[in-house]
Amino acid sequence: MAEIQRRKTPTVNIGQVRVGWAVPVVVQSMTNTDTADISGTIEQVAALALAGSEIVRVTVNNEEAAAAVPQIVEGLDKRGLRVPIVGDFHYNGHLLLKKFPETARALAKYRINPGNVSIGRKDDDNFRIMIECAIENKKPVRIGVNWGSLDQSLLTRMMDENSRQAHPLQARDVMMEAMVMSALNAAKSAEHYGLGHDQIILSAKVSGVRDLIDVYTNLAARCDYVLHLGLTEAGMGMKGLVASTAGLAPLLLAGIGDTIRVSLTPKPNGDRTEEVLAAQQVLQSLGIRSFMPQVTSCPGCGRTTSTYFQELAEQIQGYLRTSMPEWRKKYPGVEELKLAVMGCVVNGPGESKHANLGISLPGTFEEPKAPVYVDGKFTTTLHGDTIVAEFKQILDNYVESHYGQGAKSAELVEAR
Ligand code: SF4
Repeated sequence: MAEIQRRKTPTVNIGQVRVGWAVPVVVQSMTNTDTADISGTIEQVAALALAGSEIVRVTVNNEEAAAAVPQIVEGLDKRGLRVPIVGDFHYNGHLLLKKFPETARALAKYRINPGNVSIGRKDDDNFRIMIECAIENKKPVRIGVNWGSLDQSLLTRMMDENSRQAHPLQARDVMMEAMVMSALNAAKSAEHYGLGHDQIILSAKVSGVRDLIDVYTNLAARCDYVLHLGLTEAGMGMKGLVASTAGLAPLLLAGIGDTIRVSLTPKPNGDRTEEVLAAQQVLQSLGIRSFMPQVTSCPGCGRTTSTYFQELAEQIQGYLRTSMPEWRKKYPGVEELKLAVMGCVVNGPGESKHANLGISLPGTFEEPKAPVYVDGKFTTTLHGDTIVAEFKQILDNYVESHYGQGAKSAELVEAR
């Protein structure tokens, strides 16, 4: 597989997490609790962090939310969760950061939206105050442009200038250029006020896939700032997953993007951690980072008239997911494990041979037996009602013998 040439950037420290060219792409997420609800926010941040979110953003929209932040950070600390908490500020961030200095200290990064602070207006005092606060507290800043709240005075000016051109660009192209200019202008101002070049992360989020690819390609070509990628307002369920993947994949493969978020709309009372798993799956599918063992399973066809193999694939997937928090600690490298759960013997053994562990279940009219392959070699055949339990046992044994302490000792003996 050809190596991805990441675009070179500085490295930004967000709490204890490093983001930039020199380190792997980082997964982040955002809560949807009322930040003033301290226990509810701690619970959700903990769930996101345990699912694998390496940075979590919370909205800091009013005084109650700002006052809650230090207690949220302390509460997480007491649970042994050191995930960096980022404050999302709009409109009144300059007031809140000044009034709540403990919050300014407790946050690991400030997100500033240049479209709704004072950039582009008569003066940029509010923006300057936030940047000075970041400098005083040694915090990095994400300048997060969003097309839903783009600096209107900048956009109007650029539209006017464009209309006077002999060959004006389409309005969409002017809008994309305004996104890039808004981010770059704000970054330039931040540096002018004294913020370090390596303390700045940029994002320019749009909700259209082609727009996302264009705007980030353009932004990446014109600066070396660390970039946070994400399709904003990606949507619900399959639409959100497919659109986010379609937008992020070409950029990540081109080496653009140092941290990602998948902004899924959850179902009412749905599981917020899905956005973390989705971001991880995007990176793992592209061969950029591994987070959990992967299960290859066939789609099934007329040869599989029962749902048995679908159930097995689902059970194995669920088993991996519940085992991973423990396995991650006990079995370093287990996230690279590959499994195949196939519906019949047409492609089953072939696919199984490419996996560490593979099983082919009997298709319709096939003998009721399931051949198992371990590291490409036929090992055993399972029969009857105990196929699932026996396959899980084979999986447990494989994980222990290949990633456990015993495996490491054997490697050391061999190395000597
Ligand atoms: S492996 Fe067998 S069951 Fe699965 S899609 Fe192929 S032919 Fe159908």
